[in-house]
Amino acid sequence: MAEEAAAQGPRPVVSYLKIPDGGDPYLEGQKCSGCGAIFLGERTTCSSCGSTGSLVPTPLSNQGELYVYSIVHRSFPGVEVPYVSAIVDLEGGGTVKGNLIDIEPKPEKIRMGMPVEVVYKIAPRKDAEGNEYLTYYFKPRA
Ligand SMILES: [Zn+2]
Repeated sequence: MAEEAAAQGPRPVVSYLKIPDGGDPYLEGQKCSGCGAIFLGERTTCSSCGSTGSLVPTPLSNQGELYVYSIVHRSFPGVEVPYVSAIVDLEGGGTVKGNLIDIEPKPEKIRMGMPVEVVYKIAPRKDAEGNEYLTYYFKPRA
């Protein structure tokens, strides 16, 4: 059973992380064909213009800018702190929450609007059945 799971590869940690067969993982948004607004996750109605049935899946950019962040000092047992929880505006649309890595968790090191990119990594922990999960992080762009 565990071998079977491994052969299938990691599972996405969230529904909007897509892992194409033989392709690179990417984040998927729902784009409103009426007004162009982009959202994360399944929904039926555009919360920007209110139209229904206008949302189509669209791959999101892996490049963006840091919109806002907070340095987390307390978390669940087993989660290493401090870490940087960030919200990033992706190029071309889409606002995504995730952790900012490869940076010191200090306010003087982190700049609003700094360019970041989305990177994909195997999550540090498996689930009870031994399945691996693919997750995403943000890291500063050179
Ligand atoms: Zn809309």
